[in-house]
Amino acid sequence: MLTEYMENTKPIKECTKEEIFKELLNFTKEQLTLRGEIENKKKMYYFSSEFLIGKLLINNLINLGIYDKINDELTEIGLQLTDFENFENEPSLGNGGLGRLASCFLDSVATLNLCGDGVGLNYHFGLFKQKFEKNMQKEYKNEWIENDSWLEKTDKKYTVKFKDFSLCSRMYDIKIIGYKGNCNRLHLFDVDTVDESIVIDGIEFDKSEIEKNLTLFLYPDDSDKEGKKLRIYQQYFMVSCGAQLIIEEALKKGSNLHNLKEYAVVQINDTHPTMIIPELIYQLRKNGINKTESIDIVASMCAYTNHTILSEALEKWPSSYLKEIVPHIYEIIVELDEYVKEKYNDESVYIIDENDTVHMAALDIHCTFSVNGVARLHTDILTNSELKNFAKIYPNKFNNKTNGITFRRWLVKANPRLTKLISHYIGDDFIVNYEKLADFGRYINDTHVLDMLLKIKAENKLELQEYILKNEKINLMPEGIYDVQIKRLHEYKRQQLNLLYVIDKYLKIKSGKIPHRPINFIFGAKAAPAYVLAKDIIHAILCIQSIINNDDEANKYIKIAMVENYNVTYAERIIPACDVSEQISLASKEASGTGNMKLMLNGAITLGTLDGANVEMAQYVGNDNIYIFGRKSDEVIEILSEKSYNPIDYYNKNKRMKSAVDFLVSDQMLKVGNRTNLENLYKNIKEKDNFMTLLDFEDYCDVKDKVFYDYENRLDWARKMLVNIVNARYFSSDASINNYNKEIWKL
Ligand SMILES: *Cc1c(COP(=O)(O)O)cnc(C)c1O
Repeated sequence: MLTEYMENTKPIKECTKEEIFKELLNFTKEQLTLRGEIENKKKMYYFSSEFLIGKLLINNLINLGIYDKINDELTEIGLQLTDFENFENEPSLGNGGLGRLASCFLDSVATLNLCGDGVGLNYHFGLFKQKFEKNMQKEYKNEWIENDSWLEKTDKKYTVKFKDFSLCSRMYDIKIIGYKGNCNRLHLFDVDTVDESIVIDGIEFDKSEIEKNLTLFLYPDDSDKEGKKLRIYQQYFMVSCGAQLIIEEALKKGSNLHNLKEYAVVQINDTHPTMIIPELIYQLRKNGINKTESIDIVASMCAYTNHTILSEALEKWPSSYLKEIVPHIYEIIVELDEYVKEKYNDESVYIIDENDTVHMAALDIHCTFSVNGVARLHTDILTNSELKNFAKIYPNKFNNKTNGITFRRWLVKANPRLTKLISHYIGDDFIVNYEKLADFGRYINDTHVLDMLLKIKAENKLELQEYILKNEKINLMPEGIYDVQIKRLHEYKRQQLNLLYVIDKYLKIKSGKIPHRPINFIFGAKAAPAYVLAKDIIHAILCIQSIINNDDEANKYIKIAMVENYNVTYAERIIPACDVSEQISLASKEASGTGNMKLMLNGAITLGTLDGANVEMAQYVGNDNIYIFGRKSDEVIEILSEKSYNPIDYYNKNKRMKSAVDFLVSDQMLKVGNRTNLENLYKNIKEKDNFMTLLDFEDYCDVKDKVFYDYENRLDWARKMLVNIVNARYFSSDASINNYNKEIWKL
C-alpha cells in the first residue's frame, strides 16, 4: 500500500528515512480521511483541560488495521515501523493520569462507534520538558508542534468575550479513529495571536498579555495572582468555544435549543471545565431561552467526573477574579448560588462561601445530572465522607465509573510480543472484546505458555535496558528484577517511601547483606514547577542514583534509573518490561490510578496499598496474586481526623528506619546534593510527613522483601503474571465507556 502510494513521488528504495517518514505520515493521514465520521443525533462532548494522547503514527496504523501490512512492506527494504517513532514528537497536551484517561476514553468512544468528541486547548509548549541538571529537575518549554503534526487547522472561529476585550479563537482538530472503525475528533482551541517568543528563560513569560500567552502552557504556575487569572482566562476560553460549537452543531441538526439535551451531553473531566455550565446558560439566554429553562436544560445535559479528594486540588476561585475577567459568567454563578442558598440551609454545600470564594466542584454537583467517582473506593469515600452533605441532597446523582485503559495502546502497541502470544492461543478478538481475554486463563497450568510469558518479559527487559542505556546512560541489569514506580510526583503517591527502601537496601549491602538477585529501581516522574517538596524528592532520588550507580561495591546488586521527562512514549517502553508495579499511595488518597492497570495488563505484579482501583484489582486476582501492605483507608481517615500521627515516634522506635531517614542528610548525600533541599525533605519527613510514609515503612519493607523472595519461584511467578493479565480485562476503557454510555450519556 505504502509502496504504491509512494510511486507518485520517488521509489521507496531511493528515499532517506526522513523522506519515508513524511510519506508515511501523509499516507496515514489520507487513510484517515477515507474513513467516515461517526454520526448520531446526540453527541457526547468530553471537556478536559488535558489530553495526554501519545504519539499517533503507529497507533493510527493499528486502529486503521493496516499496521502489519505496512510493516511487512518496510521489512522488505530492511526497515520497520518502530524505526520511525523517533521522528515524531509526542504531543504535550497533558500532565498525568487525568489527561491519559481522557485519551483512552476517546479511543474507546470511537472504537465502540459512539459519537463523541474531545474539547480542549492547543498548548504550544505543553506542560514542560523535564531535564535533570545537578541532580535537580529543570523545566523547559516543550516544543512539540511541527509543520506536519496531526493537527488540522480548521476555519472554525468563535468570539470569546472577556470583560475588557474579546478574543477570536481558532479550532484545530486531531482525528480519533476507532479500532478498525470510523473517526471522531479532538477539538483543540487556540488563538492566532499567541506569541511564542515571549517565553524567555525556561518556562518564564509575561503573564499579563492574554492574547499573546493564552495557549502557551498547560497549567501555568498559579502561585501568584497573575497566574491564577491566566488559568481562569484559559478555562473560560476553552468552555466558551466548546459551548458555541455545541450550540452550532445542534442547531445545524435541527434542534430548537429547548431540546438541546437530545443533541448534546457534556462530560466535565474534573473541575477545570466547570464554567461550561454558566457559559451554556449564558449562550442559551442569548438565544432567547428564559432564565429557569436555561438552567434546567444545562443541568439535564452536563455530567461531572470527580478525580480527587485532595482539597487543594478542588479548584476554588476568588469571586473578585471572576468578576474582573468574566462578569457575565460571575453573575450567573451568583444566581445559581442564590438558588442553592434558598433551598439548603447548609454552608458546606454553598457555591460561594463566606469568604467570597467560588467552589467549582459545588457548582458541578448542583448543576449536573450525574456525579461520578473513578473507582469504587473513591466513590464510597466521596459519598460517605468528603461530599456526604451533597450525597444526602442528591442520593441518585452519585455513581461510580471505575477508570480504564485502552488495550490498543497499552497492549497491542506497547507489547507486540505479548499481544502475539495471546492472539496465538485465543485469537485477536480480545482487542475489542475485553471479556474474551478470560479465555487466556485456560493456560494457567500450561508450562509452555508460562515459560513464554517469562521469555517475553525477559526480551522486553533487554529492550528497555538498551533504551535506557542510550537515553540515560544508565546500564540496567536485565537478569535482575525491574521494580517500577512511574507516575506524577506527589507526596501522596509516596515515591519517598520507595526511596527509603532503596536507601535501606543500600545500607544493608554496605554492611555485607547482599540481595540474592540484582534489583533495578526504575522511577519516572515530573513534579509541578512550584511544588517544592516534590522537587526535593526528585533531587533526593537523583542523589541516591548517583551514589549507588557509582559505587562499585553496590552497583552489582542494585541500580537506580530515574528517567528524564517521563511521558507516554516512555511509559510504553517501561510498562512491558516491569516485574514489580509500585502502587503505594497513602490509602484513601489515590482516586483510582490507571498506571496500575496498564502494568497489570502487561504481566507486572502489583505491590500496593488498598487504595483506588488497587482494591478492585485485589478482588479480581485474589490475595496470592497481588502484594498488599499498609494501613487501610478507614484507618487512615481516622488517624487524619484525630490528628494523632507523629512521625518522630516511628523514627525513634525503628533503627532501620532512622538510618534510612538520616542518610538523606549524610555527608555522602551532601557531597552530591544540595543541603537546603535535602534538609527540607529530611525535616519534613521527621516532623510533618503529611502522607504518613513512616507509618507504613516497616510493613512496606517486609512485604517488598517477600515479593523479591517469591520472584525466585519463576513458574509460580509466571502464574501470577497470567492471572493478572487475564483479570486486567475488567479495566479495559471499553468497559468503562460502556458504563458511561449506558448510565450517563445514553447515546
Ligand atoms: C498512565 C499514565 C499516568 C498515570 O499513572 P498513575 O500511576 O495512574 O498515576 C501518568 N503519566 C503517564 C505518561 C501515563 O501513561
